[in-house]
Amino acid sequence: MTDLYEPREQEAIREATETFYAEYPNACRECGGRGFAETQPTRVDPGSLDPCPDCLDQGFCPLCGNDKLDDVSFGDNDRYCRVCGWCEADAKKRTGNWLALG
Ligand SMILES: [Zn+2]
Ligand SMILES: [Zn+2]
Repeated sequence: MTDLYEPREQEAIREATETFYAEYPNACRECGGRGFAETQPTRVDPGSLDPCPDCLDQGFCPLCGNDKLDDVSFGDNDRYCRVCGWCEADAKKRTGNWLALG
């Protein structure tokens, strides 16, 4: 834990994380169930969105760990989880929103 947050904020973050993993016990710890790893943006590099090497890159659902992700025919090669409803396009949009702002 860094000093970026006040102790009270750290506690809130810890509780939110625990709630999330209680709901999704098989969620990927590496990417927090998002499926994508962000590289930090710098002044010269806006950052990028890469499939998480621990789950999506190996064909596992980031949220529930299902290893049979479906290809969605109407997307551009986006993957979809039949078990929990995780969708690559949505996850990419959510995680990448702040990248688009830059
Ligand atoms: Zn992951
Ligand atoms: Zn899933």
